[in-house]
Amino acid sequence: RERLRSAGDHPPPRPGHLHVIGAGVMGGDIAAWAASHGLRVSLQDQAPEPLARALARGREFLERKLRDPLRVREAMDRLIPDVAGDGVRHAEVVLEAIVENVEAKQAVYRQALPQMKPGALLATNTSSITLETLTAGMDAPGRLVGLHFFNPVAKMPLVEVIHGSETDPEAVRTAQSLARHLDKVPVPVRSNPGFLVNRILMPYLLEAVALFEEGVRAETVDRAATAFGMPMGPLELADTAGLDICLSVAEKMSGLLRTPVPESLRRRVAAGQLGRKSGEGYYHWP
Ligand code: NAD
Repeated sequence: RERLRSAGDHPPPRPGHLHVIGAGVMGGDIAAWAASHGLRVSLQDQAPEPLARALARGREFLERKLRDPLRVREAMDRLIPDVAGDGVRHAEVVLEAIVENVEAKQAVYRQALPQMKPGALLATNTSSITLETLTAGMDAPGRLVGLHFFNPVAKMPLVEVIHGSETDPEAVRTAQSLARHLDKVPVPVRSNPGFLVNRILMPYLLEAVALFEEGVRAETVDRAATAFGMPMGPLELADTAGLDICLSVAEKMSGLLRTPVPESLRRRVAAGQLGRKSGEGYYHWP
């Protein structure tokens, strides 16, 4: 970690307030993680149900991590559900973690940017959309930076800090500093399809799906990977990340991938079988 910090680097101070838009698998867990690191976090979603689920999951996580009921209460007090999105106006960092859809994300930026404090950072947790695509037509394209956390947030130390040709270097510095304050390892990555991690991970996941389609049982594929030393097998990982997310990443990277996007992945997503979050994927999740 220390080697990633350059000598004489004086990082910006820790932001006091993070506003997260999108309280799904990632946004909810990033919010709870940040609250456990002392940040005030407002968490926004378009609907109350995902917010309630995220807060319940956040409480469970904080109870496991902090153990002390007083500290859990303090952290929960810092984690504020915010359906109206008032937090956008007060936060030093606004992190978008909504569905992986260009138009939906651009609509969020159009609404958020004019309300944000001058100099506040706008970040996206996108796993597959290039910054150039997201900032097309945006007034201040230099303000958006990728802050790509991995799933599960509490276990994965890496955060890709993604910059495009127009990204303001100060925004990158602030994003890297935030990642460090959250006890994560920021890796600067140039915006390109799959960034760095998915460029490596997707061929591996898709080969595992291809094996499954050839008739090898999911458990057998995953057991081979875990016996090899992976913390989780590739099909369990695909179910955990969400099959819709995997499909979206695979489609955006299709020009780079040698394995075609597998039919069973498309079929499951079309049928609403999205993995762990929907109860059904390559495994059944009770
Ligand atoms: P998800 O489907 O679990 O959650 C998305 C949430 O966004 C939902 O609760 C939805 O109600 C909300 N939402 C949609 N439109 C909204 C809007 N306009 N305003 C407010 N809320 C809105 O998705 P996820 O898996 O958490 O993924 C979120 C982002 O993180 C995506 O960009 C995805 O690519 C990225 N990502 C996902 C993973 C993963 O493993 N799932 C990992 C890294 C990055």
